Amino acid sequence: MTHLDSILYQVNKPARYTGNEWNSQVKDWDKTHIKIALAYPDLYEIGMSNLALPILYDRLNSQPDVLAERVFAPWVDMADAMRKAGLPLFSLESRRPLKDFDIIGFSLGYELTYTNVLNMLDLAGIPVLASARDDSHPLIIAGGSCVLNPEPMADFIDFFVIGDGEEVVLELLNYLREWKGRGQKAPKKQLLAQVATIPGIYVPSLYQVEYGGDGVIKSITPIVAEAATTIERRIVSRLPPPVTKPVVSYIEAVHDRGAVEIQRGCSRGCRFCQAGIIYRPVRERTHEEVLPAVGELVANCGYDEVSLLSLSTSDYPGIGQLVNELSHRYPNLTLSLPSLRLDSSSVALVDSLPNRRKTGLTFAPEAGSQRLRSVINKPTAEEEVLETAAVAFDRGWTGLKLYFMLGLPTETVDDVAAIVQLVARVHSLGLTAKGRKPQVRVSLSTFVPKPHTPFQWVAQDSEEQLNAKHELVRTGLRRRGIRLSWQEPKISLLEAAASRGDRRLGQVIHRAWQLGSTFDAWSERFNYENWLRAFTESGLNPAFYAQRERSLDELLPWAHIGVGVTTSFLKRENRRALQGEETPDCRHQPCNVCGLERWQPDCRQKYRQLSQAQ
Ligand code: SF4
Repeated sequence: MTHLDSILYQVNKPARYTGNEWNSQVKDWDKTHIKIALAYPDLYEIGMSNLALPILYDRLNSQPDVLAERVFAPWVDMADAMRKAGLPLFSLESRRPLKDFDIIGFSLGYELTYTNVLNMLDLAGIPVLASARDDSHPLIIAGGSCVLNPEPMADFIDFFVIGDGEEVVLELLNYLREWKGRGQKAPKKQLLAQVATIPGIYVPSLYQVEYGGDGVIKSITPIVAEAATTIERRIVSRLPPPVTKPVVSYIEAVHDRGAVEIQRGCSRGCRFCQAGIIYRPVRERTHEEVLPAVGELVANCGYDEVSLLSLSTSDYPGIGQLVNELSHRYPNLTLSLPSLRLDSSSVALVDSLPNRRKTGLTFAPEAGSQRLRSVINKPTAEEEVLETAAVAFDRGWTGLKLYFMLGLPTETVDDVAAIVQLVARVHSLGLTAKGRKPQVRVSLSTFVPKPHTPFQWVAQDSEEQLNAKHELVRTGLRRRGIRLSWQEPKISLLEAAASRGDRRLGQVIHRAWQLGSTFDAWSERFNYENWLRAFTESGLNPAFYAQRERSLDELLPWAHIGVGVTTSFLKRENRRALQGEETPDCRHQPCNVCGLERWQPDCRQKYRQLSQAQ
């Protein structure tokens, strides 16, 4: 019996650690030149629902001299059992220890998984601090939406991949082939200086950060010639064909269905939304690409449900036609459409889906009052919200789920009260429709100001302010037929500190992990006291990062990361927000000159049309 066999029976859901799933690829270890572990710092069920992982897995494994294997964060029971048994963290495909790989690439999509990165490295027997690793250790790299502010993880990661990964990973491989060709002894330092010249690669050890007496950053300076002053996000101008043979989980994943990304990017310009900025511009896959991809996905994986993914599905051109065509071609398939616009045409669209269940429809007004919806540039009119609800109830839905955010910039008590009033009106519409008993579920999240958004300078509400607002909604909505769920504000406070943190935050993350913090996004594991202690012992204050309003001229920790959208556009949007002015969606309206017109052919064309018209 191997070490692994002897501990699997002691842990929950052992299938998280067994591998061998349908479509997983096991290459010959000894005959494959470059070995990459794709690491997801959260549970298997969550990581297996991630969209980027299958793309990289497919792309890397398509190279004959490369093998890419997966590894997820073991839950606490497994991590304890592994430590006790002296079993180092291993990949799912070949069950090789992670330290035998050339590269371990982490996908960072949520700041509260940072301590899991450290825990995974430690479980693998790899020093967590980049400065403590030598040439015998694998390169530790990271990509994903969080790395648009890479600084909090700068102490642990050798280099970051900024933006779309599809093209840049192949460019990286060329450097690795050459590096490995020179023998394992070739110094890592040399490789880091070389990869720093690839657009989109950020090597934090090649930059020096200086702080002023007030704790604010004074300068971020490259210390070698190879390091660029600004690292520009990689953008693939045309989306490559979708992955149609992903690994199929044996246990239920969070999104237990196939997925085809029908478009990337969103042009709506909601001011709180980081994804709306960091995935610009909009790139669509044609119907001709999507239709066969869905069929292949079903044939290769046996799915009976496929999700058409996009940040704003209603905006995809000809979505109704696509759904129609898919329903004809695959009559037994259930289609799901996330992220729908709040309007009656979305209800009609969902109603047209084959095999749909009429249990629940989800919409995100985000703010209760029209004033605040204008501030955040998600200007759905109250009448539209009510009409959509009425149409949904009328067509037979009994359940509606509404998402709201608390703590948005300029929010007043009246705005919070408006959430209660709006939900109550929606609920009463359900009561009058066909004598049914409606269920309105309200999900409250806390606004977290994110880097590279027009709200990147604003202060987050304090815990006391947030608690008072929560209380207002809780008391206001205490009635039959309305269910309220919310996220613990302390978790959002930590998320705000981590997402706008600078390099010094590395000490805090390191200390919190040493104190036992892992899986911080899980309420049963979240230990705020640990984090407060870690901040104090590091001589830092979480409020400095979360609750401090920055001046528009402050040098922000992510100032050297270029996302394509300019700071002047973000400042303009910030000013317009405070004046309650809306900015139109640039998909159907003139270009708003966000900065991408400098790079992207489509945007450039639109920008030219605008300039000519003026
Ligand atoms: S450059 Fe213009 S068209 Fe392109 S994303 Fe920005 S605002 Fe929209």
